[in-house]
Order: sequence, then structure tokens, then C-alpha cells
Amino acid sequence: MSEGSHSVVIPGKTRKITDLSNARILVTNDDGIQAPGLKVLEAIAKSLSDDVWVVAPEIEQSAMSHALTLRRPLQIKACGEKRFAIDGTPTDCVVLSSGILMKDHLPDLVLSGVNWGSNMGDDVTYSGTVAAAMEATLLGIPAIAFSLSVLEGQDPLWKTAETHASSIVQRLVGHGWPEQCLFNVNFPALPPENVLGIRAVKMGHFQGAINVESTQDPKQRPYYWIGDFEQKAAMEEGTDIAVLEEGFISVTPIKMNLTDLAELKRLNHIF
Ligand code: MN
Repeated sequence: MSEGSHSVVIPGKTRKITDLSNARILVTNDDGIQAPGLKVLEAIAKSLSDDVWVVAPEIEQSAMSHALTLRRPLQIKACGEKRFAIDGTPTDCVVLSSGILMKDHLPDLVLSGVNWGSNMGDDVTYSGTVAAAMEATLLGIPAIAFSLSVLEGQDPLWKTAETHASSIVQRLVGHGWPEQCLFNVNFPALPPENVLGIRAVKMGHFQGAINVESTQDPKQRPYYWIGDFEQKAAMEEGTDIAVLEEGFISVTPIKMNLTDLAELKRLNHIF
């Protein structure tokens, strides 16, 4: 790779995608290059196009959200044809894919996942899987995040994603891509034949608790370990959380602009 400065262009508009069979698809994730869900998504992408690139974090980056590595250098490691690992975050992977690896021919579509575990409701704000799709969206590239709900103590039912993902991609591409918006897809923890259907729904909100374990290291110094979320329940019907519980696949459009427009209107009365 040539030395010097490479800029990643942030365009004003989202690139158009119409023909999937000729599309360059970038597959990434936050579970890392070795993750089984990445292989699943790679196979899904390859069923749609011949030009599939995989660029993923070298080690797991779950819950890293939209982190960008600014204080240390990054390395790109080739691990096969059109296959690279980066010692950074999912966002770093998308940035270096666009700015270095694919700078002469940008991806037409970014697929992120398939994450081990769902990314619904408030989890979207922690998710590295969704953040990779966010970064692509900022760079004007249509993007979809995929996550598979996994029940505690059970193996992930990857077959459910394998069975349903490609038709979801095809339908979203056929529908026409919105500006500054990504799609967040969650598969329920059910075998493919038991899935009740696909629902377009809004992001939900959880009720529950975050567990923090406190214990001592060998020198009796206390340390804390943020663990899993306790039993999460949907607070509202018709959300990603609620329909997944019912046995549907959820598809949620996520806007990059976080402004609360209703509150902005109210605020205009006092400022
Ligand atoms: Mn993850």
C-alpha cells in the first residue's frame, strides 16, 4: 500500500444500489474475523453477488458502539482473497475498507453481522454491529446490520439467518434506499421453519437491569465486572423487542440524525 494521506470521501448523498448481482458487498461485524456469524453472512452475501469482501476486527469488539481508533496506528492483515482483519473496531474496518482497501471501487452495500445475540431496542446504542452499518451510512453506502437472538445455554440457530437474510436484502434493495438511514435486522431464536414472518417495527425500550459483579483480585483489591443484562422485557407492543418475542424477524430503519423533532418543537417555545 502506498504511503501518504488517503482521504475517505463523505458524500452528500447515499449511493444508489439497484443491481445486487453486480454489487460489491463488504461484509463486516463486531464479533471478529473468526466469528461463526461472519461466515454465515459471507455465505449469504456470496449467494447475492460474486464480489464479496470481508473486512472484520481481528478480535471481538462487541459493545464498542461507533468507536473510532484515533490514538494508535492500525494494521490491515490479509487473511485470504478479499479477506482482511484489522486490529481495530468495526468502524475502523469500514473506514479503512473505503479509504484504503476499496478506495478505487467502493462497496455498493455493507452487511454487518451476523451478530451472536440480538441488537434490539436500547442495545442498538451499544452495538458495534449496528455501528459498522452507521459508518457505512455516513459514507453514503447502503448498509444492513444483522443479529441473531440466542437463548441462554443454547447454540445459535444460524440456519434461521441463512434461510431468511438474502430475501430481506433483496427486498430492501428493491424498495429503494432512504437517505442517512440503515436497516437493523434481528432474527428470533427459533428454527427457520418456526419463524412467523417479518415485521417492520420501531426500536423498543427495555425494562431490566445491568448486572455488575464485584469481587477481589489476588492482591485483595476490589474490581468490578459489568455482566449481562437481566431478563429484558419489552415495554411496548409493536417494537423490535416485542415482535421478536412473538417469533417474528424484525426490520427497523435507523436514522443517523438523533434529533428528537417533537421535543425540538417544544423547545422552540422557550428559546
Ligand atoms: Mn457482537
